[in-house]
Amino acid sequence: MLIELRGVAARIGGTVILREVDLDVAAGEAVALYGPNGAGKTTVLRILATLLPSSAGTVHVLGCDLTGDGRFDVRGRIGLIGHTPALYPELSIRANLQYVADVTGVEPSQVDKVLETVGLAGAADRPVEAASHGMARRCEIARELMLQPDLLLLDEPHSALDESAVALVAHLVESVTAAGGCAVVASHDRIQVDRLTDRQVLLESGVIS
Ligand code: ADP
Ligand code: MG
Repeated sequence: MLIELRGVAARIGGTVILREVDLDVAAGEAVALYGPNGAGKTTVLRILATLLPSSAGTVHVLGCDLTGDGRFDVRGRIGLIGHTPALYPELSIRANLQYVADVTGVEPSQVDKVLETVGLAGAADRPVEAASHGMARRCEIARELMLQPDLLLLDEPHSALDESAVALVAHLVESVTAAGGCAVVASHDRIQVDRLTDRQVLLESGVIS
């Protein structure tokens, strides 16, 4: 299993956000986490991404126990596309990817290749702050295509995306799972994520049913 959550709880400021969450995701698998707004989907992704410690239970991700110092070893193998773009607004779309390629040791020629794949070759010199939300999303898809994480986490990936970009999300999920990684896709819209994933898990009021 690439993900093993057992009895995971999250409490933030006295409020219980997740309780007794169990989740297994195998290599090669894409799982949807769906449920209404406020259910706790983003919180699960933040725990998986090593950004938030669980308040109880055990969290194993990519063979590491995230409740220990292991989280620092796996962080670089986890790709997250969250609600808001994790990009440098003042840098161009291309410069954002060049920077990531530089610090991760990815071959620089990959940058223009993935920009082409996501249809941003013509907009590559535009600063991210002058790009649309959909373009920023495409830039993040390009980044993850380039990095090929072992664990891909997508939070409401269909927001701000047109049909052709939705196909790119599917392409990204497939490239990660085909390489033996796994993906967890959070969405309030089960129909959108159905076709992207092998299995769908319902999260409601912090509980998986
Ligand atoms: P979802 O992604 O399913 O919409 P979230 O994981 O964002 O749900 O949030 C679940 C619940 O936890 C919501 O009620 C939200 O208001 C609350 N919550 C999330 N983050 C925090 C925080 N940092 N502090 C307090 N409450 C939070
Ligand atoms: Mg959310």
